[in-house]
Amino acid sequence: MKITIFGSGYVGLVTGTCLADAGNDVLCVDVDQAKVDRLNRGEVPIHEPGLDDLIARNREAGRLRFTTDVSQAVAHGLMQFIAVGTPPDEDGSADLQYVLAVARSIGQHIDDYRVVVNKSTVPVGTADRVREALESTMAERGVSLPYSVVSNPEFLKEGAAIADFMKPDRIVVGSDDDKATRLMRELYRPFSRSHEKLIVMDVRSAELTKYAANAMLATKISFMNELSGLAERLGADIEAVRNGIGSDPRIGYHFIYPGCGYGGSCFPKDVKALARTARGVDYEPLVLDAVEAVNARQKGVLFQRISDHFHGDLSGRVIALWGLAFKPNTDDMREAPSRALMEALWEAGARVQAHDPESMDETRRIYGERDDLRLCETPYDTLTGADVLAICTEWQVFRSPDFGRLRKDLKSPVIFDGRNLYDPRTLVDHGFTYYAMGRGDSV
Ligand code: NAD
Repeated sequence: MKITIFGSGYVGLVTGTCLADAGNDVLCVDVDQAKVDRLNRGEVPIHEPGLDDLIARNREAGRLRFTTDVSQAVAHGLMQFIAVGTPPDEDGSADLQYVLAVARSIGQHIDDYRVVVNKSTVPVGTADRVREALESTMAERGVSLPYSVVSNPEFLKEGAAIADFMKPDRIVVGSDDDKATRLMRELYRPFSRSHEKLIVMDVRSAELTKYAANAMLATKISFMNELSGLAERLGADIEAVRNGIGSDPRIGYHFIYPGCGYGGSCFPKDVKALARTARGVDYEPLVLDAVEAVNARQKGVLFQRISDHFHGDLSGRVIALWGLAFKPNTDDMREAPSRALMEALWEAGARVQAHDPESMDETRRIYGERDDLRLCETPYDTLTGADVLAICTEWQVFRSPDFGRLRKDLKSPVIFDGRNLYDPRTLVDHGFTYYAMGRGDSV
């Protein structure tokens, strides 16, 4: 099948590459000339395990191409995927300007039947606005061509995006139109081999399903973080509690890890956007508001703890920091807890020496050169001259460090662990003061 993908970010690039790998002829279009140039030189602008090889293989086979040429892009694909960003607007609602710009581009160049597939995360009712944009641009041209608009929200996880796309738990298709549904079924057949994974529903339900999924996951995290704060105050160990509740199959072990808050490009903005949608229909989003408030509080816990440790005076202190990405196996730092921590530390006059396996370039891009930030080649390099160590991301490589070396290199053997990577007793045996999240026996 001929496919066009608008947007070559995490979602567009993974979608285009995986669809090309199934034998489709894919043209990806992006407005970012530099990004398209890099992709055409064989460079991959994001870190996503397995993506480099998959892009190389499909480019070589001629099934995956990149362009900024919108008219060529609209002419190419029977299926026109929209996978552009939907960042939060000032009031928290999803900013649809990029989605609607793509819809207008399609309306300006469409010359035959097209299925417009919306993969971006968008509020309920967006498909109608996409239709309006298509209609009005076609009307300006004095044409009226057939098209379908379907919703196909994406559930991939950064860091495991290829596997998630290739072997999805489910593929949600919102469609009010048989022809488009048939085409979507055909397109996704290679990814639905073991059993039928395509769940077809009406467009508005599909749009809401994406927000419901992310809001539920964010709720689980905030719930555990609230319980973690409670466990601390009650002298209980949240890790024991987690084991105790996760064993109930109605609860399960997934996504109930306490930590220093959720971040990333999706949970924060999607929870806000869904709350905004609720307010738009005069329905008070009590749970969603609480999920967000708990997360905001949790993102401040590490800083508060470090500040308390130094009796509120952090000026001139040097904090070693392990982990900058919002989660492991990605270089994405959007809304990362590390950013909240670093910014608060700088504000308080401390300096940061940080390491992350993948996000150092992204950190440089965001913060530029500054005296109070040193990016270090290895985790151990961050320790030289540092007072204490803080951990924000649970990269596998941080899980079994050389504790002897840590003790020797830090000025004082103190660890603020935002991800509960270590056994508190082992750390105490090694002579550390260990602050974990929600663990009654960490001291
Ligand atoms: P991104 O910011 O990484 O990429 C968006 C891309 O779209 C950019 O390269 C940008 O230059 C391009 N773009 C903007 N306007 C364009 C236009 N008119 N034509 C062509 N390209 C254009 O975003 P992302 O993380 O891939 O997210 C895209 C959407 O998918 C969002 O709605 C997001 O909520 C959703 N989503 C993201 C994830 C994730 O893990 N990142 C997962 C599921 C869903």
